[in-house]
Amino acid sequence: MKITGKTKIVGIFGYPVKHTLSPLMHNAAFSALRLDYCYLPFEVRPENLKEAVEGIRALNIRGVNITVPHKEAVMDYLDELSSEARLIGAVNIIENRDGRLIGYNTDARGFIKSLLMDAKTKVKGKRVLILGAGGAGKGVAVACAMENAAAITIANRTADKAERLTEYLKGQFSEIPFSAISLEKDRLPEVIADADILINATSVGLKRGESLPVSSRHLHKNLVVYDLIYNPPDTPFLKMAGKAGVKKAVNGLGMLLYQGALSFEIWMCKRPPIDVMKKALF
Ligand code: NAP
Repeated sequence: MKITGKTKIVGIFGYPVKHTLSPLMHNAAFSALRLDYCYLPFEVRPENLKEAVEGIRALNIRGVNITVPHKEAVMDYLDELSSEARLIGAVNIIENRDGRLIGYNTDARGFIKSLLMDAKTKVKGKRVLILGAGGAGKGVAVACAMENAAAITIANRTADKAERLTEYLKGQFSEIPFSAISLEKDRLPEVIADADILINATSVGLKRGESLPVSSRHLHKNLVVYDLIYNPPDTPFLKMAGKAGVKKAVNGLGMLLYQGALSFEIWMCKRPPIDVMKKALF
């Protein structure tokens, strides 16, 4: 990569941001298409988020990805939000369009694309069980509702958070049956037995030694399992799914890839070189 006076900047705001794989994936894409762009990580503390967002305009940065913990807070500082970002209540990419800052959410579509490409599974007409009701759980639930799932159940350790989320979703997608359960309740095996797709959108598996909220004896061979976690690639959740002999078990690296590819398309108005981005990530 050659940085010149004409090089344009994109990047990512997060705190922490050291672990991010996005610079690898985007800079590989810029090199492959000979685009004079550079993707940089910016460690932005929560108390500096407003100034950092103003800096996008001041420094004429083309756009940034937004990661934890800023995805919700950043919405207050933008000029416009896409309908998906508004529905999910979170932004993971900002486009600077001639000084107007527009927030989008490509996590949801990235997840659906990964499910299709990596697990060869369409959500339409399927019964979906989502573990977790945090930011990622909400994004995945909205994505599955937009794809016309037959039914969506959200199971969370803090049960009233799952209940609040399903109430919100019922108001947005009146035609889809939503239900909320506690992760600790006995009903979980019964809901898994009835599910086509099981998604882990909790952070369980990120740290060593955490016990998984489901056991392999509850899973079945017609189940597609998707774990949003991707590091290590063979996550504890996927190991457990493998033991149970499920139909397909996939980690979240594809979601990261496809949300990144969609971000690239928004900033560059070009088709992303998916194979190059994938190679850089994997
Ligand atoms: P978050 O908003 O902090 O939510 C965390 C969720 O995990 C909550 O539902 C929480 O339950 C649950 N949880 C945490 N510890 C638990 C435990 N010991 N037992 C049971 N449940 C537990 O985080 P998030 O942004 O939704 O992210 C969730 C996961 O998705 C993270 O691992 C993140 O890395 C991953 N992710 C991946 C991608 C991708 O591109 N592949 C994108 C986004 C996120 P409570 O409500 O009870 O606390």
